[in-house]
Formats: sequence, structure tokens, C-alpha cells
Amino acid sequence: MGLPNKGKIKIATLGSHSALQILHGAKQEGFSTIVICEKGRERPYESYKVADKIILVDDFRDTQKIQRQLLEENAVLIPHGTFLEVFELKEFEKLKVPYFGNKGILKWEADRMMQREWLKRAGLTLPMIYNKPEEIDGPVIIKFYGARGGKGFFLARSPQEFHKKIKEREARAYIIQEYIIGAPIYIHYFYSPITDELEVMSFDKRYESNVDSIGRIAAKDQLDMGLETSYNITGNVPLVVRESLLPQVFRMGEAAVKASRTLDGDGKGLFGPFSLETVLTPDLKFYVFEISARIVAGTNLYMNGSPYTDARYGEPMSTGRRIAREIKKAIKDGKLGKILS
Ligand code: AMP
Repeated sequence: MGLPNKGKIKIATLGSHSALQILHGAKQEGFSTIVICEKGRERPYESYKVADKIILVDDFRDTQKIQRQLLEENAVLIPHGTFLEVFELKEFEKLKVPYFGNKGILKWEADRMMQREWLKRAGLTLPMIYNKPEEIDGPVIIKFYGARGGKGFFLARSPQEFHKKIKEREARAYIIQEYIIGAPIYIHYFYSPITDELEVMSFDKRYESNVDSIGRIAAKDQLDMGLETSYNITGNVPLVVRESLLPQVFRMGEAAVKASRTLDGDGKGLFGPFSLETVLTPDLKFYVFEISARIVAGTNLYMNGSPYTDARYGEPMSTGRRIAREIKKAIKDGKLGKILS
């Protein structure tokens, strides 16, 4: 593990995904900030003035080459969705710059089957997985490995339909998952290992192309046009949930944290921001189809806080700011070792 050496800690992240929110929150808590940008993509970070320093690289993968600079700056890296897309797990584990979160948990998120094992241990309700296409006996969603943002996913209802559609796509590893019909709800949590408390920060639903526009076209026209749904994420839409669902929402988050401590490693488990991605059925049962063990982009909606963080903090509290506050508390209490790896 890397611990910052001396002097003032700076907050650093890659210029993408939720960097605006992370850096904005860090500044609110009084930290200096650094953003690592791919050349030609720095404009938003200049315009929004959230970064005290912009380090330009040709490719995010060159972050490895600027490690020495980041160490000299006393930087702590805040991970987000782009990190796992850019780095191979092994490269990432080798990064020497202190990292907010538990690197040991990453492989449990990266592999869909390991993720499933984790969620099962937490006792959460999961969509069924079909081992063979021949077993398909109802609506299923076919998900490709590594396809971040749902690109290329497709639906089928029978082995025949599956075989026809898979042929039209390039050969890639996939899983066949029961398709749950209900309302998609993405839950944003924060767990503090310092106070051992779980917070529900906010919720969102996704805005995906083309699935979120198909309802604007009459069913007959959909058929005439031979439309296929796709799930390419384009943005996020705010959401609050029925208040009576909140006790269950807290229980699910606590169960995911508790189960994470039984995964291999040092028992530190999951901490910081994370998300359960769910579909809520008409009988109000949450099916969890994915866990993200870091900040999710849906939290970008709440740069100025959500109704829930407002109730708790009474001041603007984004997930980005909450991370910075955790780091601040760890510095004050001498507990940085608990939150960095
Ligand atoms: P993902 O990339 O896994 O987050 O999923 C992309 C999209 O597929 C999202 O709109 C989800 O709501 C939807 N989705 C994923 N898995 C399921 C499922 N088992 N049942 C219904 N919808 C799903």
C-alpha cells in the first residue's frame, strides 16, 4: 500500500466519468486538485475551473509514466468507471500512487461471475443465469463481457432467436441473464470504514440509446422498422424512491458491504462510494443485476447534493465531496491506512 509521505495531500483523478464532481467536491473540502487529461479533452476541466493543475497525457494509460510526478505532488487517486476500462487489473494493482478504496475488491467487480458470487453471499435477489442457450425459456438479456455502458446487449426469448441474433454479432464472451421486467433503479451508497456507517446518497435511472426512445414510436411502426433495442448509456435522470422502500435499500447496501469482507484478501472489504444496479418488479422486489465498487456517473446529478444528503447534511454534499470529507477525517484521526491502498 502507498501512503502519502508528507505535506498536504492533493486529490487527483482521470479527466472523464465523474471527475468534475470529484474535483469540485475536493475543492469544497479545501483540497488542491489535479486532473490527468488526454490531450484534446481538457476543455471542460479548464472551463469549470475544478482543477488546480491539469496534467496532459497522450493516453490515460500513460498515468503509469507520470507516477513519480503524482507521488511528488502527494496525490491521492480517486477511482471512477474509466479506471477499470483503461487499465488491465494487474497494471492497476501495481500503481504506486495512493488510491482511495480497496484495490483487492476490484477483481470481484471486474468478473461477472465473481460479482455474482459476492451478491449471492449478500443474500440479494439476482436475475437467473442460463448456462446454455438451449435452456432459454423466457425473456433474457445477453450481455457481453467488458461491454461497459451496455453497448451491443440484446434481448431474446427462445434458443432460436438467440442463435439468429448472436450470428449477427462479432464473437465475444457473453452471459445469458433472465430479463427482469420492472423499473430500473440505481442506488448510490457511501460506506465509511471510519465510522462504520452506511449512507444512502441518492438514486438515478439511466438514459440509454435507443431503448429510452423506443416508447416514442408506435408499436406498429417499431415492427415495421424492424427495430432492435440497444442499451448504450448517454446520460442519467434523477430519481427518488417510495420512502417505504428505504429500509430495504439500507439493508441491501449493508449486506453487500458485510459480504465483501468474506471475499479473499485482508477482510477490509468494500468501502467508500458504491452502487447497486437494480430492477424493481411490480411486487416491489429488488433484483440486483450489478454492483459497482466505486463512484458511479449517476451521482453527477447531485453536484449540489440530493434530497437525501440534504436531509442528512443540510449543506451541499455530493458523493465527490463525501469522498473528500472522508479523506479529511482520516487525516485528522490518523487513519489514512484504513481508506487507502
Ligand atoms: P448494464 O450495462 O449491466 O448496467 O445494463 C444495461 C441496461 O440493461 C440497463 O438499462 C439495465 O436496466 C438493463 N438490464 C441489465 N440487466 C437486466 C436484467 N437482468 N433485466 C432487465 N434489464 C436489465
